[in-house]
Amino acid sequence: MSDSDAERAASKAARKAEKRKRRAEEEEAAAAAAAPAASAGDDSDAEDERAAKKARKAAKKAARHAEMMHAGAMAMQEEQQEEDDAAAAAAAPAAAAAAAATDDDEAAKAERKRRKRERREAEATAAAAVAAAVEAEKAAAAAEDNSEEARRERKRAKKEKKAKEAAAEAAAASGSAAASSSGAAAAAASPSDAAAAAAPAPKVYPPPPPGNVTLLLFYQYVRPSWTAPQRQNAENFTRDSLTRHGCTGRLRCAKEGFNGTLTGPPEGIRAFCQDLREYEPEHFGQTDFKITDGLREGQMLRGLKVWHVNELVTYGFDLKTGSIERGGTHLPPKEWHDKAGEEGAVLIDVRNANENAIGRFQPHNDASRVLDPNMRTSTEFPDWVQENLPKLHAAKQVMMYCTGGIRCERASALLVEKGVPAEKVFQLEGGIHRYLEAFPDGGHWIGKNYVFDRRFAHGATSREPEVVGRCCLCSGPWDRYQTNSKCQLCRMEVLLCRECERGNKHKAKGVVMKCHLCGGPKPSYLPADDKTLVFKKKKHFGKDVKGESDY
Ligand SMILES: [Zn+2]
Ligand SMILES: [Zn+2]
Repeated sequence: MSDSDAERAASKAARKAEKRKRRAEEEEAAAAAAAPAASAGDDSDAEDERAAKKARKAAKKAARHAEMMHAGAMAMQEEQQEEDDAAAAAAAPAAAAAAAATDDDEAAKAERKRRKRERREAEATAAAAVAAAVEAEKAAAAAEDNSEEARRERKRAKKEKKAKEAAAEAAAASGSAAASSSGAAAAAASPSDAAAAAAPAPKVYPPPPPGNVTLLLFYQYVRPSWTAPQRQNAENFTRDSLTRHGCTGRLRCAKEGFNGTLTGPPEGIRAFCQDLREYEPEHFGQTDFKITDGLREGQMLRGLKVWHVNELVTYGFDLKTGSIERGGTHLPPKEWHDKAGEEGAVLIDVRNANENAIGRFQPHNDASRVLDPNMRTSTEFPDWVQENLPKLHAAKQVMMYCTGGIRCERASALLVEKGVPAEKVFQLEGGIHRYLEAFPDGGHWIGKNYVFDRRFAHGATSREPEVVGRCCLCSGPWDRYQTNSKCQLCRMEVLLCRECERGNKHKAKGVVMKCHLCGGPKPSYLPADDKTLVFKKKKHFGKDVKGESDY
């Protein structure tokens, strides 16, 4: 029994409770709608009582079920805890025996930490399931309260309808066509509403209820760089401000600036932005704070981590290399969009291959093409640039993009440093994040934008975004990285669909999960022709490939 199973069971319980609650609401609505259509008023009281009874019963059942599921999830967690403890107990003597086992110790510590975190998350999900059940009960109680009111309301509606019919008759008699049609429409309104309410509900998931959590994504390079004490001051200041305003998340703090993925109450996040603007107006006065409101409670990041890093994005080269002073030209989304469609443009995704596997910019006509580095980590970028210099030189313009803009800053500077003329290097200002805001239909974008917060990914907003990712085992369309599965050859994150996961396909003997760079199924957008020049990888990694930039 794994933590993710417990999580899944808990979220299933939450979904079931939610479904029951909806059913109770629908029944109540149907009862209310059906009653006016009933001929005589005498049996409507009995009907009310029956409906209320039914709602009460449904709510009780939902609550019972949620409780059961919750208990189940808790039991699973306890089981997991026992398993963990047993594993720890078993590991202890072994660790004592091995004198040079410090690495293992650290790995075990990290593993325990991860499990603890996952357990906490599972607990939160289970708590949410119970909360949903309580809500369902409340809704049923409200339905009961409403039945008395609903009866009165129906009586009033019936009276009104009669009055309207009489008015319509009178109007027809007087020859006023307009009055007649409007009267008829009014008379027709309630039966058609009743029919709509009685019709079976369409099988679509309702959009998640908007929550009250706000997300903040931002980065800021400071020029000239901070001194060590200045950096320390900035770190202390932001940690205090974020704590004071009830914000959580991650903030990387380097001498070259900040890179943050934060969540908090809407006013808390805004207060933090204001604090930072006032702290050093010369650096943060014009910072692009990307704020997204309305996230659900479950999407709040857990804990606050403000920490010291050498580079905001780990390219692993000297800080003097790729100085952001000499990068490409920043273009706002609309201008970048136009330029990316011009003859001779080359599109470069400076994100990692697992991000690229679920969404990217498409060459939108024969004029432009894609030259994706397909990196497993950003540290591969300098070598890639070196090997592809001829192609980069041949491009009329190099169009670079990343999630929020930060990775392009030094990546474009590196290109310039390697000799690609600065005037033909362009970077997408505000990244895919701002582009999708400017192009709700996705524009040249296809698929989803991988994000490092608890939304996991997002895409076009005015239509259903396409699924371009492929399950590493069955090749079925899938674009959610939620199983923490890794390529068994290079340890990069891979896509594993729910069906394969539930069927334990990945645990079957002889099955090897492979990412698309190691020979696994390719994303659906990769054309077979030479328009896409995919860089062939040689390097494999012994350990997990982790995201070294948050955004
Ligand atoms: Zn699959
Ligand atoms: Zn791989």
